[in-house]
Amino acid sequence: MITEPTKLPLTVHLCAPRGFCAGVDRAIQIVEIALDRYGPPVYVRHEIVHNRYVVEELKRKGAVFVEELDEIPAGEKPVVFSAHGVPKSVPADAARREMFFLDATCPLVSKVHREAEIHFKRGRHILLVGHAGHPEVIGTMGQLPEGAVTLVETEADAETVLPPDTDNLAWITQTTLSVDDTRAIVAVLTRRFPRIVAPHKDDICYATTNRQDAVRAVAPRVDAMIVVGAPNSSNSQRLREVASRAGCERAFLIQRAADIDWEAVGTVSAVGITAGASAPEILVEEVIDAFAARYAVTVETVRTADETVSFNLPRELRLPAAQ
Ligand code: SF4
Repeated sequence: MITEPTKLPLTVHLCAPRGFCAGVDRAIQIVEIALDRYGPPVYVRHEIVHNRYVVEELKRKGAVFVEELDEIPAGEKPVVFSAHGVPKSVPADAARREMFFLDATCPLVSKVHREAEIHFKRGRHILLVGHAGHPEVIGTMGQLPEGAVTLVETEADAETVLPPDTDNLAWITQTTLSVDDTRAIVAVLTRRFPRIVAPHKDDICYATTNRQDAVRAVAPRVDAMIVVGAPNSSNSQRLREVASRAGCERAFLIQRAADIDWEAVGTVSAVGITAGASAPEILVEEVIDAFAARYAVTVETVRTADETVSFNLPRELRLPAAQ
């Protein structure tokens, strides 16, 4: 008789909150309701959220992803703008082409857009703390004319940036940054420009902050931390960094369980698992199953905050469908 080798015990510390935030949930719902109401295809400009699994699921249901509006054939099919937000020129272009568009920009990103507009109207130059090339940064900079916003990516940038009028300045941020890095960058800006105007309420969103707090609580107790998320997802990348800075050197960002590098993870007795704001729970379950295939797993949830945020759908989808 062949006996199976005894599995070593492993405690999985499951970070909570983790995974989908209210903005991602709303964006996915917008595409799904549009598919239901108007039938496929529904066009989506850019990845609706940064997650391949989500994108493939929506494709399967009839969504067609494009990078630019000119890839969409003329007709009445809706086009959805992604949760990251878009420059003002995009809805303007869609209106000029007489397209029916639905805006899935997260309301917390729209809030930053409005802040930027108010600062501009008050004659302030804006320093945007964020990552070059990220769609949210492109969208936020694109709310205002060229030259109105300067991007600051690092503390070194904050030390050297030369804004046009140092007495009339404001700072805003991308919503998915590292809380610690941003604090350090802003400290440099306020030291150099004491009159700089700050946001009334943090631009880094509740979901980013809560997911980082949970990782900070779990990281010191575990041998390895697994972050489920996409490599182009800013908030997921930050979770991996937060884990290593909080004392967990073996911190990995993976898209699916199949990506786990078991050799690099090594032998573990405690592992932390979290997921970025655009990663669905099914992928977390897949990772727990992968550990359960190798270890005798006990799962303990470490909850550092309760989340109750939800956002309304765009007006067009709240109205009953035309008969
Ligand atoms: S991470 Fe924050 S800003 Fe981005 S979609 Fe989610 S709630 Fe909105």
